[in-house]
Amino acid sequence: MLDIIRPGDDRYPLVRHVYSAEGSPAAVVRPRVPAEVPEALAFARQEGGPFSVRSGGHGISSISTNVGGTVIDLGALSTIERIDDRVVEVGPGARWGRVASTLRPWGLAISSGDSGDVGVGGLATTGGIGLMGRKHGLTIDSLVGADIVTADGVVRTLSPTDEPDLFWAVRGAGANFGIVTGFRFRASTDASVVHASFAYAIADTAGFLERWGATVESAPRSISAFLYLFGGAQPFAQATVVFAGTDTDAAVRALEPFTRIGQVVGRRAEATAYADVLPTSGAVHSGQQTAVTRTGLAVHLDRRISRSLASLTRGGEADMIQLRSVGGAINDVPSSATAYAHRHQNFSVTAVSMNGLQSLDAAWQESRELMDGLYLSFESGHAPERVEDAFPPETLDRLRRLKAHWDPDGIFDQNFAIDRVASA
Ligand SMILES: Cc1cc2nc3c(=O)[nH]c(=O)nc-3n(C[C@H](O)[C@H](O)[C@H](O)COP(=O)(O)OP(=O)(O)OC[C@H]3O[C@@H](n4cnc5c(N)ncnc54)[C@H](O)[C@@H]3O)c2cc1C
Repeated sequence: MLDIIRPGDDRYPLVRHVYSAEGSPAAVVRPRVPAEVPEALAFARQEGGPFSVRSGGHGISSISTNVGGTVIDLGALSTIERIDDRVVEVGPGARWGRVASTLRPWGLAISSGDSGDVGVGGLATTGGIGLMGRKHGLTIDSLVGADIVTADGVVRTLSPTDEPDLFWAVRGAGANFGIVTGFRFRASTDASVVHASFAYAIADTAGFLERWGATVESAPRSISAFLYLFGGAQPFAQATVVFAGTDTDAAVRALEPFTRIGQVVGRRAEATAYADVLPTSGAVHSGQQTAVTRTGLAVHLDRRISRSLASLTRGGEADMIQLRSVGGAINDVPSSATAYAHRHQNFSVTAVSMNGLQSLDAAWQESRELMDGLYLSFESGHAPERVEDAFPPETLDRLRRLKAHWDPDGIFDQNFAIDRVASA
């Protein structure tokens, strides 16, 4: 019998909300094993009303809870197993911090994001821009197979040779095609890294951003670098720079240019485990982070983009700008190889308004026009036009045909719905 948590159940307060929103679903279904997911889907369809799929509950678009509907919560599907020398099988409900710490004694690691609390399911169906991305690609680039429950309630095994079209679609647009119940990743052997942090006081924000961009692009691909820029009267930035590998001399050489970008007011570097790089709180979700975010991808942080981003923090519309490196190995993958098709950009750019300022939208417009594509996982808005930013025309065309075939009734339309066209 399905485990269904309803209002009044002692466990309901623990499962009703997500990280970025409060919710009050009528039922939260918690499959205990992947084989219960088709039954959970049938239950949700029978109940009708709003429907959400949840893995880690850290989705920025706040759709993994709802009001009055059904949530399929995959949190209990969190096993992590080594099934071959470098291949690991991971449940969607595992969080990336635990994945990293479980893989560590095996001498393995998978580049994921910058938070250990993020769930495997949401990130590994969309992309996965991580702190070893320039060396090892997106998280989806490590994916060698998956299991999915499609709209017809059938469990399907996906790989480059089993349902290859669906496997292609799941790597970037997974939420539109079903519920992924298991992921098989080929992990890297970079379980050890050099982890550096820099704090910069900034006099000229636009100039600083241009230098940051040039430094990241010319760094060896062992380096992946995330920058968190804050405005206000005294602008400053914090950077997390990871050198994937154990060659500390090479790491020192690769990190040195980051000391010349601006006034360094704090710095630290240590050889450590990749697992120690990801902060993990394990906090119960209560809708604790209701930030509004607007996002895009950029090829270079050129003068126009840098000035535009600087003005966002200067004017206070954005409390923070996050810049995550892509490029390197991410761009070695042909853009037609996965539904995430953005394989020539070097930066993911996200503007964050912590208190949800509506003025962010208007202020972001100038930056948006300078962007080249979008990674869906950093967008808190739900505007349907963002689907066209996320998927270039050829990719979107293929996705629309596959959507018509695999999800003809639009069951999985919650997360930036891809509209259906008649199959050719
Ligand atoms: C603090 C923070 C830091 C982040 N840092 C990064 C980062 O550095 N790099 C990066 O790439 N991303 C990052 N993200 C974004 C993150 O990848 C997405 O928010 C992701 O969707 C969260 O996954 P989840 O399973 O926790 O989310 P959930 O809220 O559980 O799911 C989000 C959505 O994904 C879909 N989904 C979830 N599980 C499945 C499944 N099993 N099958 C099909 N669809 C599913 C559903 O539509 C669901 O509504 C960050 C997010 C936060 C909040």
